[in-house]
Amino acid sequence: MSTDNLQNSRKIDLHSHTRYSDGQLTPAELVMRAHTMQVDVLAITDHDTIDGLTEAHEAQKSYKRPLSIIDGVEISTQWHGFDIHIVGLKVDTGQPDFIAALASQQAVRLERAQAIATKLEKCGFAGVFDKAAALASPGQITRAHFAKVLVEHYQVSSMESAFKKYLGKGKRAAVKARWPQMNEAIDWIHKAGGRAVLAHPVHYDMTTKWLRRLVADFAHAKGDAMEVAFPGVNPDKVKILEELVVEHKLLASAGSDFHFPGRWTELGRCARLSTTLTPVWHDWELTV
Ligand code: AMP
Ligand code: MN
Ligand code: MN
Ligand code: MN
Repeated sequence: MSTDNLQNSRKIDLHSHTRYSDGQLTPAELVMRAHTMQVDVLAITDHDTIDGLTEAHEAQKSYKRPLSIIDGVEISTQWHGFDIHIVGLKVDTGQPDFIAALASQQAVRLERAQAIATKLEKCGFAGVFDKAAALASPGQITRAHFAKVLVEHYQVSSMESAFKKYLGKGKRAAVKARWPQMNEAIDWIHKAGGRAVLAHPVHYDMTTKWLRRLVADFAHAKGDAMEVAFPGVNPDKVKILEELVVEHKLLASAGSDFHFPGRWTELGRCARLSTTLTPVWHDWELTV
């Protein structure tokens, strides 16, 4: 239990994916997983879409065990050449400008996928777009879908290797997407009444100096919170993140970034938030 995120004896996971982006489970299966793993509060945060939320709420109706499902999203943005992910929590899924913003994100995703496929075709992977699109349907197409197709159909040894050789930053099939600036995504989330959370700040492959700039800019753009507790995080890095949260008066979030049950990843499994930080959920009325 020590690695679980228990706060006042609730298990809270505010970052997870379904098949509507690159997660492996359907929303109903994700809800079932939440019950199996004794999660009490679950945010569903698919890449640039909120399409899985209705199914998840519907699925929860058939359980007696309570589960607070938080309406969320993970928005792709750019900042000084880095792809930065901003999670939106408690978003109003009916807000028209927000819906329009997600539609534009989805158009950027599709355009980027076509450009990635063109580059992969040149590497000898004929027909890769149709396979990736079929795998992603009816959800958003992501680089993870291309990676999976390369492993399953084209003898690439692993997802890791697919990113290392082709899909990662600066690699043969890398494409710079026309993602919005970080501050635009924060504004969209606020317009939809949600809180903007800087996702997995240690996964951007940047120096601590750049990380400090990123968090300062995020706070300056009125970002609300930063993920401080996630899986496999090194204690020295956590200390830096905790200091940055305090310095910039941010709230702290916790999430597993769950995509599929695996050896290293599980729903509800992430480090605990230090009690010295104010959690992003501190003023939420949770029924659980
Ligand atoms: P996208 O949002 O389309 O750029 O796709 C990024 C997604 O690919 C991330 O959210 C991860 O789920 C996945 N991903 C990124 N890097 C790797 C990697 N090295 N190995 C496996 N999956 C990865
Ligand atoms: Mn993902
Ligand atoms: Mn992410
Ligand atoms: Mn994620």
